[in-house]
Amino acid sequence: MSNLRFKALEILQSRTIPMSGINGVKASEYFASNVFTREAMRTYLPEEVFKSLLQAIETGSTVNRTVANEVAQGMKTWAMSKGVTHYTHWFQPLTGSTAEKHDAFFELNEGIAFERFSGGSLAQQEPDASSFPSGGIRNTFEARGYTAWDPSSPAFIIEMSGARTLCIPTIFVSYTGESLDYKAPLLKALHLVDKAATEVCQFFDKNVTKVIPTLGVEQEYFLVDKALFEARPDLILTGRTLFGAEPAKGQQLEDHYFGSIPERVYAFMVDFEVEALKLGIPLKTRHNEVAPGQFECAPIFEEVNIAVDHNALLMDVMDRIAKKHNFRVLFHEKPFSKVNGSGKHNNWSLSTNTGKNLLSPGKAPKDNLQFLTFFVNVIKAVHDHADLLRATIATAGNDHRLGANEAPPAIMSIFIGEQLTHVLEEIEKPSSGKKEKETGGNAFMKLGINKIPEILLDNTDRNRTSPFAFTGNKFEFRAVGSSANSSAPMIALNTIVANQLMEFRKEVETRIDSGEKKDLVILDILKGYIKKSKKILFEGNGYGDAWVKEAEKRGLSNIKTTPHALGAYISKPSIKVFEENGIFTERELEARYEIKLETYIKKVQIESRVLGDLALNHIIPTAITYQNELIENVKGLKELDLDKAYYEVQIDNIRKISDYLISIRRNVYEMIEERKKANVIEEGKEKAIAYCEKVFPYFDKIRYASDKLEAIVDDQRWPLPKYRELLFLR
Ligand code: ADP
Ligand code: MG
Repeated sequence: MSNLRFKALEILQSRTIPMSGINGVKASEYFASNVFTREAMRTYLPEEVFKSLLQAIETGSTVNRTVANEVAQGMKTWAMSKGVTHYTHWFQPLTGSTAEKHDAFFELNEGIAFERFSGGSLAQQEPDASSFPSGGIRNTFEARGYTAWDPSSPAFIIEMSGARTLCIPTIFVSYTGESLDYKAPLLKALHLVDKAATEVCQFFDKNVTKVIPTLGVEQEYFLVDKALFEARPDLILTGRTLFGAEPAKGQQLEDHYFGSIPERVYAFMVDFEVEALKLGIPLKTRHNEVAPGQFECAPIFEEVNIAVDHNALLMDVMDRIAKKHNFRVLFHEKPFSKVNGSGKHNNWSLSTNTGKNLLSPGKAPKDNLQFLTFFVNVIKAVHDHADLLRATIATAGNDHRLGANEAPPAIMSIFIGEQLTHVLEEIEKPSSGKKEKETGGNAFMKLGINKIPEILLDNTDRNRTSPFAFTGNKFEFRAVGSSANSSAPMIALNTIVANQLMEFRKEVETRIDSGEKKDLVILDILKGYIKKSKKILFEGNGYGDAWVKEAEKRGLSNIKTTPHALGAYISKPSIKVFEENGIFTERELEARYEIKLETYIKKVQIESRVLGDLALNHIIPTAITYQNELIENVKGLKELDLDKAYYEVQIDNIRKISDYLISIRRNVYEMIEERKKANVIEEGKEKAIAYCEKVFPYFDKIRYASDKLEAIVDDQRWPLPKYRELLFLR
């Protein structure tokens, strides 16, 4: 009577904790040892080549073929000194994961073997692109797309099973130049925000010549034992559990959050951190999260493009190292129902070449005006394009968080804390009367700008329910899903902020040209922005029903599901802001929209199939077997001529089992019918809506009956590892 679950539980008993990686060695000694860092470049490249490469990295200009050839030589020598035999272009197609195709340095010339790596191979490659989603941009019969080197993200070495591969971060575009990945548009958006923010900085500080957008990604994840994972077809195929009764103990005691880390998990963390640090990923914090089995790690923030690459790479590393430790890492937004889901908080700010964080309030009033300028412009941008931001984080997985009374809600709002709320109110409606007399004609004094307390830097004001929160010196986009590629939200955020800053600059300049005083003009324009966008500011509890009503009154959107949320990708204002700024063409946006709809449909379709299969071939047969045992038992008791009271419990359970079986069967077949209807719908959005509103609602019904059966059926027979086994790591 041994099923996969019990085999897995047996394996669990014999787990040992592998000794973790590097003992007592300082991280600074191996940090970035697998990265072609500037230091490595300086060592392996001729002086002029090094200089022109740096120049290209800093200005975003292209690297010419001669330089590329020299860089390839240096990179190859460096890589071979580390035992590398292969290289690959490493890119982020719209599948959401990373992609690579390995080639050997090895070549043959008239039977003689040698190692070669040319500038051409470094700069450009042509992977067979037909298997990557393109949203119709590239017909499969002209399956041409190419990857092109991104010198601004350093090459790195992946070590796996003793083999080493040089990975070159690249963009992925079609032959007609349309982007087929996340990186190409991200680089454009980052360049744009640099330009726009630098220009606005000129109002305050002429020394600013470059603005670097920064990102620190907090990554939440679950860990489950590998053997248990493998006994759950739903986890294997969909990344989340489609069944599972709530355990007697869940997260209600809140004893997991910041609790001590289980030793097995600790060993895993240490190991993947070492791996990540070698790759230059500056991991800094690790801790337990709210739910049992849930954890988080966060790096020190970096320039956005690099931070995004590092997060994508980190997810790969974690996945790989987890298997080595007999774990599986779950990045799904909601692997378990009734316990917290996982997010990927995107901490974002802008910093200058002079070392100033533009979202950090300063000591002097002048600094504070600059701070307020950037602060208010971000608020205005988010206000104007809230639906677009919502669209960038819309996925089937994230719907379980955003639409479902969990952190954070689907309503886009911004939390700024009490002090800044007060400051903005003061700017909008300067307190009148006595105070004004006291402060005379000084607009700064009058408006209290020089009084933004530095305590803000302490970041004490916290609101965990806000999807977009100001946390002292950065904004934190918390609604991003844990499995996401941060590029999608980062492309949108940086573009809309850049666009807003450009508008702001124009307004200011026009009024300065007509003779008004700069600081007063800036303040006055900010005042107008605050008025226009303050409805997006919300300090209260984002989970409450009261907020849903209040938000509706304010005219804020509350778009709960992906098929509806995605529309903002192709709304007029989105097309305008992306097209005018050269980030996406309308065609590219439509392609992305289609791909995202299609991904949504496929995800729900797969879940629906797995759910149906497991219900029919795991759960129903198990329940019937157990029911037969009960029937035999009742028959036996009857033979003994016992009073009915002696087998009432059994009869009751026999009846209940039949009722649940009937319910499961009926719902599975109805769901299949709905799927059939949905499958013949041609139009993407309509089809996605059918999956969302006609197919998906069956999930809960089927699950409900199945979870009831889990509670009745003999534990020894139940085939799927239970929540208590999956969640509480030993
Ligand atoms: P928490 O939000 O849990 O308090 P931290 O204050 O440690 O966490 O910050 C979370 C993340 O925000 C970290 O990755 C950190 O590096 C990042 N961060 C801090 N300052 C900035 C900044 N100026 N720009 C971008 N990210 C930042
Ligand atoms: Mg945080």
